[in-house]
Amino acid sequence: MQKGTGNHTLEGAGFQRALNGIEDGEVFDAVVIGGGINGIATYRELSLQGLNVLLVERDDFCSKASAAPSRMIHGGLRYLENAEFDLVKESLFERNRLLENAPHYVRPLETHIPLYSWTAGLLSAGLRFFGLNQKTSDRGALVVKTGLAIYDFFTRRDQIMPKHSLYSFRQTRRRWPGYAGAVKCSASYYDAWISAPERLAIELIQDGEQNQSKPHALNYTHADIGNGSKIVLTDRITGEKKSVVSSHIVNATGAWIDLTNEGVSLASRYIGGTKGSHIIVDNPAMVKALDGAMVYYENAENRVCIMFPYLGKVLIGSTDIPISDPDSVICTQEEVDYILTSVKHIFPDVEIREEDICYRFSGVRPLGTANTASTGQIPRSHALKVDELVGGETLSIYSMVGGKWTTFRGFAEQTCDTVLEALSKPRLVSTKDRRIGGGKAYPLGKTALDIYLKNLRGEYRISAERAATLLSRYGTACEAVLDFIQAGEDTFLSSLPEYSVRELTYLAKTEYVFKPLDLIQRRSTIAIEGKVSPAVLAETTRLLAELHGWNEARTAEEYKEAAESLNHHNGYDIDPAGLFGWEHIDNSGKVLCM
Ligand SMILES: Cc1cc2nc3c(=O)[nH]c(=O)nc-3n(C[C@H](O)[C@H](O)[C@H](O)COP(=O)(O)OP(=O)(O)OC[C@H]3O[C@@H](n4cnc5c(N)ncnc54)[C@H](O)[C@@H]3O)c2cc1C
Repeated sequence: MQKGTGNHTLEGAGFQRALNGIEDGEVFDAVVIGGGINGIATYRELSLQGLNVLLVERDDFCSKASAAPSRMIHGGLRYLENAEFDLVKESLFERNRLLENAPHYVRPLETHIPLYSWTAGLLSAGLRFFGLNQKTSDRGALVVKTGLAIYDFFTRRDQIMPKHSLYSFRQTRRRWPGYAGAVKCSASYYDAWISAPERLAIELIQDGEQNQSKPHALNYTHADIGNGSKIVLTDRITGEKKSVVSSHIVNATGAWIDLTNEGVSLASRYIGGTKGSHIIVDNPAMVKALDGAMVYYENAENRVCIMFPYLGKVLIGSTDIPISDPDSVICTQEEVDYILTSVKHIFPDVEIREEDICYRFSGVRPLGTANTASTGQIPRSHALKVDELVGGETLSIYSMVGGKWTTFRGFAEQTCDTVLEALSKPRLVSTKDRRIGGGKAYPLGKTALDIYLKNLRGEYRISAERAATLLSRYGTACEAVLDFIQAGEDTFLSSLPEYSVRELTYLAKTEYVFKPLDLIQRRSTIAIEGKVSPAVLAETTRLLAELHGWNEARTAEEYKEAAESLNHHNGYDIDPAGLFGWEHIDNSGKVLCM
């Protein structure tokens, strides 16, 4: 049996605060500010080329826009309407690379488009094509077919999934009987979805980290630029401050790009972000109505919405609303109502109750500024803006504006090549065909999968169910997880027996986990699946407390912070004082009453 990833250093990278190991005044070839997917992927690219590079994220890695996507890895059929052909072509290329390089998290997704007419939208699509700015209208079968034919054309030499099809009224009704009566026909094609983007992001960091002499990926560290090539780093957990120096700063701070640039008095106006929200519903009738496919549909205002089966539930979204303050976004009740109304438009008989919503989330698309009639028409392509500030020495700032999750690799490659050119250094490694984390040696196809699982069960003496679960959670990196699990006494969580204590301990020790939500919201899918109860939060917080040596006051504070965030951002209702009785803890951290 082939071993998967195993390059994590326990108790080293990913467990200690990395800022400890950075010297005050240390010089780097490049510093990447912002640990969303764009910053992470650029850190990986630069690191793999042998550069001495630092990644700095002020919250947890992949916790802002990069944790809020529709979880589609797609070409972006809709962008053809805005004539963004290059973006669609690039996205389809990158989608196919991700299907190959990260098959443990990125999988094909049959996508179905219900249509209300054969000919609608021809005129408006034509006008938009010629750049005449006007809002979207109904999309009929002919318009959609044209788009799908272009989609197929772009992948004609790299066709790894079935081509599109059109379905008559009868064929459509047979498979999707729940559609609204107005649906006349339908079309289907293949894109992809990602189960755990936050986990894939951590694997990319680890891929970059292995090329550095010491841990260089810092979460919970705020970066301030402002004094020439000096960057001030503040550890938001320990309060420690240090300065580092670099003449090449990659500004990958997403919706905060212009704010970050203000530090060096660079009055950039690159970002015109829009907020998007999603809900996850636990509703078996809805799962059944989708019949395993994503439904890509228009709501009453002709906005494209999506819903697809996600980990046994249904992910539905999204909204697209201009915002001015990226720090305050949450999925509001108004947005929930809007999304539920959209669902009624297409599946009128499926009842979704408020209590079926087990998770809600929101993020800001860091789009470029544009003057368009609707937010849907703001270009989704990415742009690298290079600003050179000449003072004592030249400081280059590379601002990464926009970009899809899907296109992170290509955008990071472009940024990396620009930095390499500025440094007169060669590219050493391409990431095009580089497998990521648990995607290495991943068994493809049913036969290979069955053999792999059988071997896994035999080698580790675990049940078929546990083997399948761990493979789906970690890909082939499940072997490193199992090696760790079996090196000590293990038990399952009493509040959530599908996870074991040593499994979570492994994640906590190797994957930069410093707070409860890192573990239950981003290194695992516990939160997004609606599985956080007060007991789960308490048990996982205690686990981290033990590993990091928190006293009771700190433990209670961490529990409270996590509960408040889940309540505010994700629609949970967990008493922040909860099981801990944190208000009864004295100053020394001693619990007076629990
Ligand atoms: C609602 C929605 C749906 C989407 N759906 C899809 C989809 O289905 N498929 C797809 O391909 N793409 C999708 N996208 C697009 C994609 O998710 C984003 O374009 C991408 O995640 C942007 O990544 P980023 O790294 O630029 O930004 P972010 O993920 O926001 O990262 C920026 C980071 O910078 C950090 N930061 C800010 N200031 C500082 C500082 N001073 N010091 C240190 N760190 C700092 C922030 O904390 C943040 O983590 C969607 C986006 C949204 C919002």
